Amino acid sequence: MKCRKCGAKASVNMRQHRLALCKEHYLEWVPEQTERFIKKYQMFDRGDKILVAISGGKDSLSLWDILVRLGYQADGLYIGLGIDGGINYSSESHRLTEKFANENNLKLHVVDVENEYGQPIPMLSEISHRGHGKPCAVCGLTKRHVMNRIARDLGYDVLATGHNLDDEAAVLFGNTLQWSSEFLLRQGPVLPSTEGLARKVKPLCRFYEREMTAYALLRGIEYIYEECPFAEGSTSIYYKELLNKLETDRPGSKLTFYLRFLEARQRGDLFAEKDIRQANLHPCPNCGQPTSAQGLCSFCRLMEKAEGVATISRSAL
Ligand code: SF4
Ligand code: ZN
Repeated sequence: MKCRKCGAKASVNMRQHRLALCKEHYLEWVPEQTERFIKKYQMFDRGDKILVAISGGKDSLSLWDILVRLGYQADGLYIGLGIDGGINYSSESHRLTEKFANENNLKLHVVDVENEYGQPIPMLSEISHRGHGKPCAVCGLTKRHVMNRIARDLGYDVLATGHNLDDEAAVLFGNTLQWSSEFLLRQGPVLPSTEGLARKVKPLCRFYEREMTAYALLRGIEYIYEECPFAEGSTSIYYKELLNKLETDRPGSKLTFYLRFLEARQRGDLFAEKDIRQANLHPCPNCGQPTSAQGLCSFCRLMEKAEGVATISRSAL
């Protein structure tokens, strides 16, 4: 297999794009494509201050790397979840994130959930009795809350996450199986800003997971290979496996599934968009982030439950 651009030996072959590239041209192609998606979906401009949510995995570190290479003003946010799982998951991902930031001279904000809210994620989950023995519900809620808070308090225009096509297709598949119109309408490369919330964007949403792995490896980015130990056996991994089987037989089907959805959404073919979009959000009386709940938002209710941390510390970073 030869590189389409220079004829040298190809390092990456993308069957779904009928495109093979050598290392050098692949490392050019990925940022070029990212820039194209940023423009196409109007994610942000040169002047915007971007906060990139960094987990220490290949996608978020690669996203940070790409945005900086493209010349955007992108700072990182690492959230310490306090998850060990026998592999020092949190401390190792924190170490690799710091290392990347230092080596590239980038600004990284770190929020440690235990320091700030009194307990690590697994304990918060236990205390709140949410999520049937898995901390993922509490973890997701907490991460969203912290990202929104930091973006707002530190004046970022945009919050960028490293979700790739495999992530997005799996979520779309799950939402379609349930026909959850509210979630389907909110899924996309850009979630516009609302009062109290920064715009959210997913610049990698059209890259296959294996394309991001190839990017991180070829760029020599050191990332945490292990998934969070709580991800094992999750529904989203099961959906990813199903979609991968489909993809093996029919290359490109994952991308088509996602892109056709976005097109239908844009044409307004899906449901009564406007009714659902306006779903009565109001600011939480405690933290000010938008919520549809009566009274406190879910995060502040979680904090109320977690004894001793009822008053949310807003300590500066
Ligand atoms: Fe949080 Fe781990 Fe669950 Fe992901 S898999 S939501 S990081 S606990
Ligand atoms: Zn709140």
